[in-house]
Amino acid sequence: MLKLIKKVLKTGKATVGYPFTPLDLAPNFRGKPQYTAQQCIACGACANACPSNALTMTTAQDGESIRWSLFLGRCIFCARCEEVCPTAAIKLSQEFELAVWRKEDLYETADFPVCQCRECGKPYAVQKEIDFALSLLQENGALSDRQIADRRAQYETCPACKKLHCLSSTDRIDIGRHMTTEAQP
Ligand code: SF4
Ligand code: SF4
Repeated sequence: MLKLIKKVLKTGKATVGYPFTPLDLAPNFRGKPQYTAQQCIACGACANACPSNALTMTTAQDGESIRWSLFLGRCIFCARCEEVCPTAAIKLSQEFELAVWRKEDLYETADFPVCQCRECGKPYAVQKEIDFALSLLQENGALSDRQIADRRAQYETCPACKKLHCLSSTDRIDIGRHMTTEAQP
């Protein structure tokens, strides 16, 4: 017995002291995705990239905002969301103690107001995303204030209305262009 105790003392601790002492995690450990709503522009890139559908973008109940939602119960900690996020709004943390009492506690959500199209009034795009694109142009200094205002009107118009404005009138279309002698080689 004494021989065994001596051997054990010589060997030292074979286990870690967790949970009484914190675990020593690798720097690239992939834990719970940490989300900062202030930084998010609701572009939807993370929801597109998420392979397990843990991240979703849906219309909120009020119908006037887009809901960003993370369900941790589906997350596989692959870090695709972190890779694609253009504003570093989501990053995988070192947090791994994720047990909860209620399933609802595994959800995290954020609502973003939607811009209504200036022409037809239909919900069009997330307002914060448009503001972000314009602020990038402004910061870049490539456009004047007047040009930025013009771009805002353009960005706050839905694709269908933009298309309507760009259509040429029918009397300006040369339907038989390829049948004329000039058009032949
Ligand atoms: S870590 Fe992967 S599975 Fe989890 S939310 Fe991000 S993209 Fe989705
Ligand atoms: S990719 Fe980033 S900015 Fe875009 S919706 Fe996801 S968290 Fe927000």
